[in-house]
Amino acid sequence: MLGKLANHDETIVALATAPGVGAIAVIRLSGKEAIDITNKVFPAKDLHQQKGYTLHFGGLVHPHTKAIIDEVVVSLYKGPRSYTGEDTTEISCHGSPYIQQQIIDACILAGARMAKPGEFTQRAFLNGKLDLTQAESVADLIASNSAASHQTAMQQMRGGFSRELHQLRDELIKFSALIELELDFSQEDVAFADRTQLYELVTQANKNVQHLIDSFRMGNVIKNGVNTAIVGKPNAGKSTLLNTLLNENRAIVSEIAGTTRDTIEEVLNIEGILFRLIDTAGIRESNDTIESIGVQKSLEKMRNAGVVIYLFDANELTVEELETQVAQFQAENINYILVANKIDVQGEVALRNKFSAYPGIIYISAKNHDHIQQVKDQLVAEVMGGTINTEDTIVTNARHYAALKEVLRSLEDVRNGMDNQLPGDLLALDIRHCLHYLGEITGEVTNEDRLDWIFSKFCIGK
Ligand code: GDP
Repeated sequence: MLGKLANHDETIVALATAPGVGAIAVIRLSGKEAIDITNKVFPAKDLHQQKGYTLHFGGLVHPHTKAIIDEVVVSLYKGPRSYTGEDTTEISCHGSPYIQQQIIDACILAGARMAKPGEFTQRAFLNGKLDLTQAESVADLIASNSAASHQTAMQQMRGGFSRELHQLRDELIKFSALIELELDFSQEDVAFADRTQLYELVTQANKNVQHLIDSFRMGNVIKNGVNTAIVGKPNAGKSTLLNTLLNENRAIVSEIAGTTRDTIEEVLNIEGILFRLIDTAGIRESNDTIESIGVQKSLEKMRNAGVVIYLFDANELTVEELETQVAQFQAENINYILVANKIDVQGEVALRNKFSAYPGIIYISAKNHDHIQQVKDQLVAEVMGGTINTEDTIVTNARHYAALKEVLRSLEDVRNGMDNQLPGDLLALDIRHCLHYLGEITGEVTNEDRLDWIFSKFCIGK
């Protein structure tokens, strides 16, 4: 099945570096004829005679006219010891778009065809160089825009996630084989598969899979950032706090995915996590945000936020007002941080006494930049939820998430089946369901449409 999908006979070519002007650009060829084709445009030496993992300098020429296009360095990788597992060459040329195009055209004239998006990685997958979660993490790695998203993508590419899944799959396969063996001996009424052991395995697996599912929220945060709202009464100091935070932690434009320069929002990068500040225009334009947009709208805004910073002038706000506000947050299930501002006026000790019923409050002076770090630490802690850290395997992919939910469901079926003394053949069926969904994640169970869809999300040249 996979061979048909691959079109392995064809040699593919694409620009591997970002399009546009650069100091150098890299054009990559992969396939059975990669070396033949490169020889036709790079006459300096016969690459068939060279060892893999070597570099070769020389002129790159038009395959027919032999007119020289550029001076280049060719890196040679001989299959299977290459990214795709096939013979691969990488031509480093000067980075003008004109030269890049000329060289790609020359390679096509010499027998290559343009690669489809993700086709290099698809070949790596089909040649067993990567499993599907690793291949997908390559896409995430390319798109990663903060330290944390880079770290999770890297962790996945190295196979941490797949290792966990493979282990579970192997154990389940063992049990289903034993149970099926029992069925062959059903007359004799023997039990090969140790039910207690299976029950423990399923219970443990259940916990692990649940943890992975929970990590999806975190994964999403790492990939996309977390919507953050600063709310409070007029004059509480919202714009002052906003400016202080932005001065210290404004994310640089290139860190922010999915935004163009025109629609740029204010984004903070705190410890590698992106906090997208929503409605900062509202904070800046009017001095009474909540009043002017109406309570309804601000509630809506808060519901859309992953975390809300409720900022108040600790000298002005009464304890009753705070109580009402907190009750509202709780009723609406809003994730909030309480921040008491302007401690420079009455002093922190007096204000702490006033609000002693709320030990979680952070006391700051936005104007004097006092204790701003505590606000940042609390933001990070809210998002991390205390249960998951970035060293763990984190699910960032919606496809994996959906499949993991199915895995969990079938694990629960297995467990319920055992609780209800279900016969072996029905148990085996539930285990097989579970195996199916596990395999879907790592690519052991797959179909062509799905593969095409996954790899089409890559950029060309990868
Ligand atoms: P907003 O309406 O919530 O955006 O509040 P602003 O940021 O515009 O601040 C309202 C007023 O409070 C301004 O005059 C600020 O200078 C002042 N302010 C903000 N933070 C502090 C603070 O920590 N201490 C003191 N004393 N004044 C502050």
